[in-house]
Amino acid sequence: MSNHVQISAYYQSLLESLGPDHPLRRTVFPLDDFSPEPGDSDDPLGEEIHSPVPGLIHTYPDKVLLLATLNCAVYCRYCTRGRLVGKTTNPWGTKSEIQSRWFQWLGKHEKVRDVLISGGDPLTLSDGELDGLLAGVRKTDHVRTVRVGSKAPAVWPQRITPALADILAKHRVWLQLHFIHPAELTQETTQACDTLAAAGVPLVSQTVLLKGINDDVNTLTGLFYGLLERRVKPYYLFQCDPVTGSSSFRTPVEKGLQLISELQGRVSGLALPVFALDAPGGGGKIPLLPNSRFHREGNEIVLTNYEGKEYRYPDPEGGIQPAAETPRL
Ligand code: SF4
Repeated sequence: MSNHVQISAYYQSLLESLGPDHPLRRTVFPLDDFSPEPGDSDDPLGEEIHSPVPGLIHTYPDKVLLLATLNCAVYCRYCTRGRLVGKTTNPWGTKSEIQSRWFQWLGKHEKVRDVLISGGDPLTLSDGELDGLLAGVRKTDHVRTVRVGSKAPAVWPQRITPALADILAKHRVWLQLHFIHPAELTQETTQACDTLAAAGVPLVSQTVLLKGINDDVNTLTGLFYGLLERRVKPYYLFQCDPVTGSSSFRTPVEKGLQLISELQGRVSGLALPVFALDAPGGGGKIPLLPNSRFHREGNEIVLTNYEGKEYRYPDPEGGIQPAAETPRL
């Protein structure tokens, strides 16, 4: 859990305008009980043991995560990387030393196709620093996809300038945003998303499911449609990681499954993210599906839609048994 309280002037004024009881306040101010629970961890995803080089995390064979900075515009109380973010001095050395180790490592690992630059929030770097880092990553021929994770359009939309958008577009970056509530979709945020989309930067969003903040179908519907309107594809809805002291934010896994099931009937497929859990200890993201809504009857698959009505799809027997392939929780 992040112990650091810091909030951009913009987000502070947004929270003030929402009133003293708005649940978003809990995500940045220490208003909850942060006592650790059994199973909590300071490093719930086991990043430290998957870090061959400081600040570089290698969990999947084809992907790598670079922690470009430990600074954020706002510190979230449920942050998975609360053990690191907000530190005033980087524990791994100077930026140029760290990055030169990363680029050497990348050059030797030809299976890596996808680089995610995160932190902290990489958009707290200056335009020049970000441009230099992206150029260094792009020099590695086998890297095909570069993603940058940022919460800036939600909490510091003024950071999104045409010059920054051009840098991201030049390096063919996918921008992976972090929105948790429709109240974050202000006029300023819309302008920031428009600037990025106009420059040709593809936008997706990740949302952490948070108890009492966004764990109801109306809030999520408003958020996901609001994102689509702003040309941001809802990508993942995450079960909150068991980071130390975050239990007051966590919902039971079944709650997320129920919400996804309800959303399937209410929002267009484009607005529906994948509900997933990041396996503790570094097992990677595991998509979670609501209970299977189909079973086989002879040569037919019997499906149940979101209203509970049954439909039959002709399908000769002998294929893969769908029920056995679908996780049930
Ligand atoms: S913006 Fe991201 S990295 Fe920073 S505190 Fe929030 S969740 Fe953590």
